[in-house]
Amino acid sequence: MSYVQSVLDQAIKRNAGESEFHQAVKEVLESLEPVFDQRPHYKDAGILERIVEPERQIMFRVPWVDDSGKVQINRGFRVQFNSAIGPYKGGLRFHPSVNLGIIKFLGFEQIFKNSLTGQPIGGGKGGSDFDPKGKSDNEIMKFCQSFMTELYRHIGADTDVPAGDIGVGGREIGYMYGQYKRIRNSFEGILTGKGLTYGGSLVRTEATGYGLVYFMEEALKSKGQSFNGATVVVSGSGNVSIYATEKAQQLGAKVVAVSDSCGYIYDKNGIDLALLKKMKEVDRCRIHEYVKQHPHAEFHDSCGDIWNVPCDIALPCATQNELDEQAAKTLVANGCYAVGEGANMPSTPEAVKVFLANNVLFGPGKAANAGGVATSALEMAQNSMRYSWTFEEVDAKLKDIMINIYRNSSSAAKEFGFDQNNLVVGANIAGFLKVADAMMAQGVV
Ligand code: NDP
Repeated sequence: MSYVQSVLDQAIKRNAGESEFHQAVKEVLESLEPVFDQRPHYKDAGILERIVEPERQIMFRVPWVDDSGKVQINRGFRVQFNSAIGPYKGGLRFHPSVNLGIIKFLGFEQIFKNSLTGQPIGGGKGGSDFDPKGKSDNEIMKFCQSFMTELYRHIGADTDVPAGDIGVGGREIGYMYGQYKRIRNSFEGILTGKGLTYGGSLVRTEATGYGLVYFMEEALKSKGQSFNGATVVVSGSGNVSIYATEKAQQLGAKVVAVSDSCGYIYDKNGIDLALLKKMKEVDRCRIHEYVKQHPHAEFHDSCGDIWNVPCDIALPCATQNELDEQAAKTLVANGCYAVGEGANMPSTPEAVKVFLANNVLFGPGKAANAGGVATSALEMAQNSMRYSWTFEEVDAKLKDIMINIYRNSSSAAKEFGFDQNNLVVGANIAGFLKVADAMMAQGVV
């Protein structure tokens, strides 16, 4: 049995029942086999055994009182996975499906993603099984304040800087920031994704979606293709989806479908983005409301069927494992030639195999959606300087970062004997090397 396989087996055994974490570790470790062949000193230093074990995992009770006066209890998490190259950095997810295994999968991915950005940020992730859907603003505030009342002691501008993720947007970040400031009596950059009036960065809201499209545009360029004139399907209708749709449209694409967990909309004329933003960012309503304004559009009540809509480029931007082998085969059969992951691990391993086997240009999440965290690191830099860059300045830096991530991933694939379009192994290897070298330099810690 190979060294890498034995570490994988041990990690699966030690983290029983955490299937998403197993999936993420397997995907990364299998890509690293050639690295260990060429650089056996990593093995001697136990780099792999250490990298799959979080530095710290925190779980805590989050008590709060709902609008009817009833006490509610949720569970909070923060997994501080790896700080070899900088303070822990990664979002908070509020969703009923959240458990330790999901937070660990996200935290593990974050190590390599953050390394790929070229910025000094380590990997972490957190969240809660709290469901913000259907809650009043007052209940959201109560929950966020209670969550921060425990989390504050574990984070800090030079220690761990959380951000948003599913279910955590500007509103939730604001309530958590206010509570941190109240408890610590200190105005510090301890969260990113903050509002522009209190230390947020321009472009952070748009960053993950814009970054995804910048990354894919650069990858498409290498094949003489582009978003201009392409038909695009985007799953989800949250932060990442909305701004991926916006940038794809700006580059001349027609986005014909978006979804939420209740179904998808197909609009052959192209999605009305202004309406989508109002529905999801202001009214917080369900996607089927779209057809009230656009009766020619179709609503289908099965979100997973969005991949049946024929397209040139697919951008899964909703959640993990939302695109399976059958969906991948359907996309390929319908002529889809590029897939960019806005979400974390949205394609199952079987789906990824289908894409690679059929020469579909595939941008894996840890590279393609790194624009969000990259811009969070730019927010941290601005907070440290007590200075703000313009929208154009931040956007230009984001674009440069995404182009570099594509180029570094592609050349790492080539250097280790893979096709230069195999961005899956390329991103894993490029992200890993920097972290491994930093760990080597810092001794056994
Ligand atoms: P949001 O909460 O803003 O949006 C999530 C969207 O996905 C919602 O429209 C939600 O619908 C939808 N959704 C959830 N499950 C499904 C499903 N099974 N099928 C179809 N739609 C579904 O989250 P974000 O946009 O921030 O995050 C989306 C993904 O991107 C996640 O994987 C996240 O980890 C990843 N990501 C986010 C970053 C960021 O900066 N925000 C950075 C990097 C990655 P509903 O409202 O019905 O639940």
